Amino acid sequence: MQFLLRKLIRYYRHNVDESLNIDEGYQHSYLVGFFSLIISIITFFSAITSFLNLLYSLAVSLFLVSILLLITFYILKTSSYRHYHNCSRFIAIVALYILCFYLVCAGGVNSSGPLWIYVIPSITFAFLGLKQGIIANAAFIFIVSIMLFFPNDQMLLTTYSYEFKTRLIYVFLTIVTLSGLYEVARYRSFMRLKTMKDKYEYQAQFDYLTFLPNRRGIQKILNKDQRQRKHTHKVSTIAILDIDKFKVINDEFGHEVGDMVLKHTSRVLRDCIRSQDSLARWGGEEFLLLLPETTEQEALVLLESIRECVEETPFGHGNISIFITLSVGLCETSPEVDFNETIKFSDVSLYRAKQAGRNTVFAYTPEC
Ligand code: GH3
Ligand code: MG
Ligand code: MG
Repeated sequence: MQFLLRKLIRYYRHNVDESLNIDEGYQHSYLVGFFSLIISIITFFSAITSFLNLLYSLAVSLFLVSILLLITFYILKTSSYRHYHNCSRFIAIVALYILCFYLVCAGGVNSSGPLWIYVIPSITFAFLGLKQGIIANAAFIFIVSIMLFFPNDQMLLTTYSYEFKTRLIYVFLTIVTLSGLYEVARYRSFMRLKTMKDKYEYQAQFDYLTFLPNRRGIQKILNKDQRQRKHTHKVSTIAILDIDKFKVINDEFGHEVGDMVLKHTSRVLRDCIRSQDSLARWGGEEFLLLLPETTEQEALVLLESIRECVEETPFGHGNISIFITLSVGLCETSPEVDFNETIKFSDVSLYRAKQAGRNTVFAYTPEC
């Protein structure tokens, strides 16, 4: 039993950690699923106890709720039933509320049934979040208060002392407050973690200067293109675009102006490329351009026009005007070829473009 429980907790810890990579809703579903499973086990054993105590209607109700919670657990733990997550959460919570109303009304074993209402606050917050949780908890305690204090105990099948009834509600309200505060803290720390994660993920994948994807950022897009190529049996082209004599710009106008030239060039490139193309800052003054479903011949025409576009759009700042030219090396990639190989060949043709005098576009040929 201990081994099983430990395995279950480990499994859940892993999934909750994993779900941090997805979104709050999914992580929430995992936690709620875990809650459902625990309460399902408890209600199942309570059903057996009630059955042994000959409280058959209570046993059947507990058993039904246990099954419902078990189904909820199953639905919430699988992402394939995501559309049903909200619905199953709602059904489970309604079932739990009805069970608690029944226990308050009937009293359960030796009138100890109402003590079950103490599980409601934390489960409600876990299932519904803070705002809806407050409303649902308030509605719940309102109905329970009416049941308990209805004249002549007409809504009860058992009797409780006045002190028991008031203490029951006071303690419930205390637990609601504590659970609510806990939920606020949990949500805030989750959001802080998520914001930090998003920020670091962005920093890891995008270049801070040009806001283009960096090497790591374009990797995902290249991988996706490679998968699609295998599927569609079409070719793509990868080009490396390098600013000519950039070092001279830095030396002549300073590093700051060099940075502005990089920003300017990336803006011009972004405006020149097609919507389906992906541009990245590949290195210092080098850009990588992925042209999906584009042959070498088509890419040559496109890149020639991009090169002209950059040439015809000089950088201006105050009284400084800098003409920028690009050398481009490109290579077509087929479904079987890994894109790293294609990038290597694009680099080879870029080297050739530089040797040929710069400000030109070269496609890869094996003899280069
Ligand atoms: P080539 O035509 O052969 O490409 O010559 P180049 O001067 O463009 O190439 P080289 O590799 O000799 O120099 C690239 C320069 O780019 C050197 C480096 O200091 C500069 N650089 C790299 N990253 C940045 C950056 O982020 N900002 C600025 N301002 N300069 C950078
Ligand atoms: Mg250069
Ligand atoms: Mg370079």
